[in-house]
Amino acid sequence: MKIVHTIADLRRELAFFRDARESIGFVCTMGALHQGHQSLIKTARMNAKRVVASIFVNPLQFSDKKDFEKYTNVLGRDAALLESVGTALLFAPSSVTEMYGDGFQSAVEVGDLSKPFEGVDRPGHFRGVSTVVAMLLNLVQPEFAVFGEKDFQQLRVVEQVVADLKIPVRIMRGPTIREEGGLAMSSRNSRLSAQGLERARAISRGLFIARDAFAGGNREGSFLRSLVIEALRLEPGIEISYVALVDERTLKELDVAAAPCRMLAAATIEGVRLIDNIALI
Ligand code: AMP
Repeated sequence: MKIVHTIADLRRELAFFRDARESIGFVCTMGALHQGHQSLIKTARMNAKRVVASIFVNPLQFSDKKDFEKYTNVLGRDAALLESVGTALLFAPSSVTEMYGDGFQSAVEVGDLSKPFEGVDRPGHFRGVSTVVAMLLNLVQPEFAVFGEKDFQQLRVVEQVVADLKIPVRIMRGPTIREEGGLAMSSRNSRLSAQGLERARAISRGLFIARDAFAGGNREGSFLRSLVIEALRLEPGIEISYVALVDERTLKELDVAAAPCRMLAAATIEGVRLIDNIALI
């Protein structure tokens, strides 16, 4: 695996793949990688000759400066993990300036999809995500890029950007990879104590209960939501941000569950904000 730190080097390496007519799949990340990221790379590897990954902790998408500063930087470990699953090229920009230059003034802003949920709790977050993803897709120009369902609102926002701006790339969805107890893998999980991790399982537990209730024929939105909220309330020290039953495509809240729909949840435990969601099918 080759590692490049500048846009110029990235372009040079990509040109080799293109000259050899090798298909390119792309996965963008913020590092502190885990099996969730690895699974996206594996999906990309199955569908393209060359997998390009990026690691860039994008300051534009952090509304909380402390959250940005706390983001783990473990490039050596991340690089080994990416290489072990067949990544051909890693783009790890050497600095924020390498990505944005000095006079950056542009932004990509998605409307309705980016307003609720994470958009409320993290102002400007999706503007930052949409802008950097558009930039990365423009730089790498892959045939497809894989994004995780774990960040479902982000995935929908990215799909919308690509559709609206006619970016010639296919967005593939990667399933959420979970710890043994059900907790969705996240770089943030490492900030939790053993007790916090145990408590955090209530999020997936609640979502699974709602999914099972839906599968059992329950369609009432308020009831399905209450199952998740109850599971979260049973654990002490969990602060709920939102629990919402939404249409898969529009992310509009539903009174009555009608597939395809999702239950989204966000909660803070020991000061660590976690999100998860589940498809109701
Ligand atoms: P991040 O590094 O957290 O910005 O995430 C980079 C990509 O990995 C995004 O497309 C995420 O949705 C995806 N991702 C993060 N956690 C998981 C997980 N547990 N399972 C699957 N994909 C994930």
